[in-house]
Amino acid sequence: MVHIRTEREIELISTSCQIVADTLDMLSKYVKAGTRIIDLDAKAEDFIRSCGARPAFKGYMGFPATLCVSVDDEVVHGIPNNRRLQEGQIVGIDCGAEKDGYYGDHARTFAVGNVSDEKRKLMEITQKSLIKGIGEAIPGNFVSDIGHMIQSYVEGFGYSVVRELVGHGIGTELHEEPQVPNYGLPKQGYKLREGMCIAIEPMINLGVKEVKTDSDGWTIRTADGQASAHFEHTIAITSNGPIILSKKEAANG
Ligand code: MG
Ligand code: MG
Repeated sequence: MVHIRTEREIELISTSCQIVADTLDMLSKYVKAGTRIIDLDAKAEDFIRSCGARPAFKGYMGFPATLCVSVDDEVVHGIPNNRRLQEGQIVGIDCGAEKDGYYGDHARTFAVGNVSDEKRKLMEITQKSLIKGIGEAIPGNFVSDIGHMIQSYVEGFGYSVVRELVGHGIGTELHEEPQVPNYGLPKQGYKLREGMCIAIEPMINLGVKEVKTDSDGWTIRTADGQASAHFEHTIAITSNGPIILSKKEAANG
């Protein structure tokens, strides 16, 4: 079922989203060549716990860490390990937190030092596609209007949309209905209503849309080995339009 959240519930979701946004802000200064990915994960967990919250991914379906860290051709769900970041990589960092029973989910892709123009543009267009998708999240539109916008926009640059993974409702669980694909025809699926909270998260590939899963059972990577970018916001749908909860400005309305 799709939940309609009260104003109070949206505040609680917003609080968890702020913690995640602050976590990624905090991590951003450590995203540089030589940093071990596992150290990013430890910093994130400490920070989230210091906010009185809990890392939402740790233990979820058996996932072992606080962050999903996905480098270059890794699309999402990379497991933090001892690898060190290298100049020229792009690094998707996805983070979730739960406080007082409500969840926030947010991801950004960062550049490690100087990256190629090709990767920089992929990041930029993926981030813009998220904002365009969010713009469709208004009462009366359909869930698929979001994905249709994202797909139309990124395919115009020759990029492709991952099909196997999608955005989702969020609130008292990390993943709730409805699923929010990043592709599709307009006017399909659920009608968006005031009070719905959803995470929109385009995963956009430089090359083919196909992906494969590593033998660790988690890491998703592009089938052709080309780079992929991922940005995610948790938003609330309101009569005044979408509100992005996973950024600082949301805190004061
Ligand atoms: Mg996420
Ligand atoms: Mg998500």
